[in-house]
Amino acid sequence: MARIPLVAGNWKMNFDHLEATYFVQRLAWTLRDARFDFRRCEVALMPAFTALRSVQVLVEADDLRIRYGAQSVSVTSQGAFTGDVSADMLSKLGCRYVIVGHSERRKYHPEDDANIVDQVRAVLAAGMQPILCVGESFEERRQGIELEFAVGQVHDVTRDLSDEDVARLIVAYEPVWAIGTGMVATPDSAQQAARAIREAVHAQFGPRMAGAMRILYGGSVNSRNAQQLLRGADVDGFLVGGASLDVDEFAKICRLA
Ligand code: PGA
Repeated sequence: MARIPLVAGNWKMNFDHLEATYFVQRLAWTLRDARFDFRRCEVALMPAFTALRSVQVLVEADDLRIRYGAQSVSVTSQGAFTGDVSADMLSKLGCRYVIVGHSERRKYHPEDDANIVDQVRAVLAAGMQPILCVGESFEERRQGIELEFAVGQVHDVTRDLSDEDVARLIVAYEPVWAIGTGMVATPDSAQQAARAIREAVHAQFGPRMAGAMRILYGGSVNSRNAQQLLRGADVDGFLVGGASLDVDEFAKICRLA
């Protein structure tokens, strides 16, 4: 089954709303000049909460085909939760995607497996698509259990989901040791992990779901390694951190996908 690749830029805590607007404009121009075909590859940006409204206004006013989403979400829908942002609030801002379970969220915030499952559910219930991040640390890799580990993380989330929900889930395989370090996974190991995740989804939900699910690779992706990584038949695009902060570099990665 043909899967449309997705290149998503995870801006993390970078760019205020003015910088974000400027970036989106320049990216749109760069891709237009390159005659980029959005039907063949989806492009998404994940700004900080504070920039989402500005990005929405620009995307709608100029009818841009760039999509956008958030980097995290609250598991509750409303109420006395100071500092939280609900899935409905994000969906009203036109977000299509929400990153869930990024290793930086797992590390710096109390986001454990149960919380991540709840975030996925909240995103799905609000009609958006979760980009679920999984991947082993250096220690699990040293022990040789990286595939089981990533598959286990996916399974923890999917085990209670319906077919309909799984059809909207995107998985990003992001080995923790590769994030922001310049140490990219080899194309073979990215493919092996994506394959293992797809096989596990196949075992649980059947060939149609497994064949349709987009599995991204993330961790030190740049325009020099993107093409090799995409050779893996099960790698359907990227979650890009550092390299998504440079318009030309990010546009190049989009064009390679
Ligand atoms: P990186 O980050 O591309 O800077 O390694 C990826 C991510 O954290 O999603």
